[in-house]
Amino acid sequence: MNDTNGNNAEIENAEAVAVALAEWWHASARDLPWRFGRATPWGVLVSEVMSQQTQMSRVLPYWNDWMERWPDAAALAGAAKSDVITAWGRLGYPRRALRLQECARVVASDYGNELPRTYDKLLALPGIGDYTASAVMSFAFGERIAVVDTNIRRVLSRVFLGVESLGGAASPAERALARQVLPQDGVSKCRRFDRSSVVWNQSVMELGAIVCAAKSPLCEACPVSSLCVFLRDGRPGLGERRTRPRQRFQGTDRQVRGLVLNALRNLPEGEIAVDRKSLERLWNDHIQLDRCIASLDEDGLIEILPNAAVRLPV
Ligand code: SF4
Repeated sequence: MNDTNGNNAEIENAEAVAVALAEWWHASARDLPWRFGRATPWGVLVSEVMSQQTQMSRVLPYWNDWMERWPDAAALAGAAKSDVITAWGRLGYPRRALRLQECARVVASDYGNELPRTYDKLLALPGIGDYTASAVMSFAFGERIAVVDTNIRRVLSRVFLGVESLGGAASPAERALARQVLPQDGVSKCRRFDRSSVVWNQSVMELGAIVCAAKSPLCEACPVSSLCVFLRDGRPGLGERRTRPRQRFQGTDRQVRGLVLNALRNLPEGEIAVDRKSLERLWNDHIQLDRCIASLDEDGLIEILPNAAVRLPV
């Protein structure tokens, strides 16, 4: 069968791959608290937002604390911004925390504190893109929908096309392949699972996260090694088309922004601001420091006081 690129995609193996992955998922999936129907849809959404650009193992303690403190959208909507930014801790990209709170406010006010159950309505929420909307539809609501993230693209491209996936945004061909190989619910040979598309999405993503890694895939431990075109063909160009080279962190604005936020999060009891002198001690390059303080202010993550001290927003 041809895929939309004209490649000879061996998607006739899709059913066998689905069965192998479902068995593997059942035996080996990491036991995370937002999986296996134990979390509310809101909890699933929080886990997805936290997991973007952050490893799931790092997310776990933050998710547990967050959900205990703000178990639903209404609780998060009413929280002080400073508490939300502080609780985000070292998850990185802290704007996500404020977007999640904006999302919570809309869910609480417009949807009676329940996440809407359609892709379009989810996509319209603040901070929610295609991936998160699809993931929530699949993982939280059990709907049959192709979820497409970097890990899934890499696995599908390797297994069915025998090539590395291209960098950048998902191409129409990659989305078409994801839809083509998505199992029909209720017809999988693996009858233990009644939602085979959900298991498929989760297991392909999990395979990409812990087995079929970008640089060093563990093919010898892979449940679909006998079906993988990429392995059969000698793993051509392994790692060459990685989505992005790993960004260095040392010396970047991200590091400086993190230092400023960290100083604010760790203020002694009773203090609410970091004064200018203390800020300057955090980073020697004061031009870069000022740029980062300005961008944090622009992002709504801090407030600059008239004496040039900074504090978390209230
Ligand atoms: S056999 Fe190797 S390349 Fe193929 S899916 Fe498994 S880990 Fe990835």
